[in-house]
Amino acid sequence: MVLLTRKIEFSASHRYDNPNLSPEENRRVFGKCNNPHGHGHNYTLEVTVEGDPSPITGMVLDLKDLKELLDREIMQRMDHRNLNVEVPELAGKIPTCENIALVIWNLLEPKIPAGKLHRVRLYESADLFADCYRAAASNGHAPSRKAGK
Ligand SMILES: [Zn+2]
Repeated sequence: MVLLTRKIEFSASHRYDNPNLSPEENRRVFGKCNNPHGHGHNYTLEVTVEGDPSPITGMVLDLKDLKELLDREIMQRMDHRNLNVEVPELAGKIPTCENIALVIWNLLEPKIPAGKLHRVRLYESADLFADCYRAAASNGHAPSRKAGK
């Protein structure tokens, strides 16, 4: 079994605001991320597929197929978008790195053309990323979050 990873980058804006909390609570919990007009990030997404290389092609999956899938499901949906209002899969969710990673997992997992989705890693910045694995996605728990500093 081999793990194959493809990396893409997209830019998007978001705002953290929970309508069930008061404006004061939102500011306390989310700090600057609650600023009313939102802010942007350059996200880096790593998609890892596991499988055995084909004896005919030597590949786990056709990279063209994976690129098309990522263009269609992620770039067209999220690049240069406001994640709070333009991505229906995030409606009603706080668009944290964790929740975006989980949405990306659920979008990609059923459509991986060969092999199996092993991990989705989403960097919100160089020192913050969220990982989503099969177990985390299937039981609905948010993926783990790791801060580098
Ligand atoms: Zn942010």
